[in-house]
Amino acid sequence: MSAPNIETIVSLAKRRGFVYPSSEIYGGLGSSWDYGPMGIELYNNVKQAWWRWMVYERDDIEGLDSSIILNRLVWKYSGHEDTFSDPLVDCKECNSRFRADKLEQEYRIENNIPWSVAFVPPAPFDDIKCRNCGEINWTDERPFNLMFRTHVGATAEDDPDALVYLRPETAQGIFINFLNVLNTSRRKLPFGVAQIGKSFRNEVTPGNFIFRTREFEQMEMEYFVKPGEDESAHQEWIDACNQWFQSIGISQANLRLYEQPKEELAHYAKRTVDIQYRFFPERKEEERQWDELMGIANRTDFDLKTHSKKPEDAEGKRLNPDSTEDLSYFDEQTKQRFYPYVIEPAAGVNRTVLALLMDAYSEKTNDKGETRVILKLHHSMAPIKVAVLPLAKNKPEIVGMAKAIKRSLQPVLRAVYDDTGGIGKLYARQDEIGTPFCVTVDHQSLEDEAVTVRDRDSWEQERVKVADLATHLRQRFVLEPGQ
Ligand code: ATP
Repeated sequence: MSAPNIETIVSLAKRRGFVYPSSEIYGGLGSSWDYGPMGIELYNNVKQAWWRWMVYERDDIEGLDSSIILNRLVWKYSGHEDTFSDPLVDCKECNSRFRADKLEQEYRIENNIPWSVAFVPPAPFDDIKCRNCGEINWTDERPFNLMFRTHVGATAEDDPDALVYLRPETAQGIFINFLNVLNTSRRKLPFGVAQIGKSFRNEVTPGNFIFRTREFEQMEMEYFVKPGEDESAHQEWIDACNQWFQSIGISQANLRLYEQPKEELAHYAKRTVDIQYRFFPERKEEERQWDELMGIANRTDFDLKTHSKKPEDAEGKRLNPDSTEDLSYFDEQTKQRFYPYVIEPAAGVNRTVLALLMDAYSEKTNDKGETRVILKLHHSMAPIKVAVLPLAKNKPEIVGMAKAIKRSLQPVLRAVYDDTGGIGKLYARQDEIGTPFCVTVDHQSLEDEAVTVRDRDSWEQERVKVADLATHLRQRFVLEPGQ
């Protein structure tokens, strides 16, 4: 079967309660989405799996949860106030707005022009057609800062002292807490600090379902190392992250590593490798089918230095006159003081959810020739692990037994009871949300104290004694990454 496109996933997601368009009863809000009963389970499973992998299973990483609204100076010295912007162009014919860098990137791919060939502005915009109306009539390029602004306290809206931003990344909350975590956890290099949380970017062109939204959630970890050990640590994290996505069930064939060319690198980065997923299999050019799921950057010592009061320029002037701390590290062994380098694996929860849904989507034809959707999610990611279904809902003994089985499984597994349809329909519904096993209670169960366990992927059924059910399921589940 060919890979599903995002539209197929959007429709399944709405039908089965994964993701709904936000504010729909008021006409929606562009590119905002709400996670429904199934979606939030999948979403939480992703976060739990990541946290467990990062923080619990390793010995060198601590957790943190910093504020969304930080002192404005954080964003001044991180460089976001000056440089966290996208280049904008408008089509003068139809007023559509685009990111100039994305248009240029697509133009290069379509015309096979490598990044080593530099363009002299305004080229290539003399050749690029508007994606909306097909005309070529662009405004000049201008920067657009992506940070959402708001004001704290009961002050006038234009009071510059009250201006704050919603954070556009979780990373800065980690850097400004470097000394706090170092001192309270008594860590030595190398060590990392992980954080999961919402970030906000006033994206110029959001879209493609939950791929690019203005409100999203990030899973970021800053790994602090001695300068000189940064390159090998970076490579280890690239390999480990690639492996992690496979461990939660994303197929290797749909993942690839993308080495950012020098021209694309952020000003502070020494090297950045993205893990890309084949989000757009329907696109003609192979190169345009891939996009970023995660970025893994070597940020050098830029972040800790820029937030420190110490560094001075050639004339002895402090580069950061506002900071009250020096975020350097003292190495007891070598008796040297320096600013650690930082390796940053940064992934999006929402894009991971999208990749999981796309990767798990499959179709199968039943005996009657009907096509059924099966979401072959890794067991650890499945929103519901077991559905207990009564074959006859008007028979109190069967219903009672099914409900009792559901209750007995509940403490160890996310289990549900469902009697809202015929058994064929109930199975189909569970297949579509990715439930690995269905347990069916029938008339025979009342006599032999046994139930039927049905497998989502093979549709094979097995008779199991109720007394052995929990052990039987435990043996068949593959739950490592999440639970
Ligand atoms: P892009 O190039 O796609 O805009 P980025 O390079 O700016 O992404 P990072 O700053 O590296 O993204 O953020 C790390 C991760 O956060 C991304 O790999 C992605 O998974 C997620 N992310 C970033 N922006 C968004 C967004 N607008 N919507 C959903 N997820 C996002």
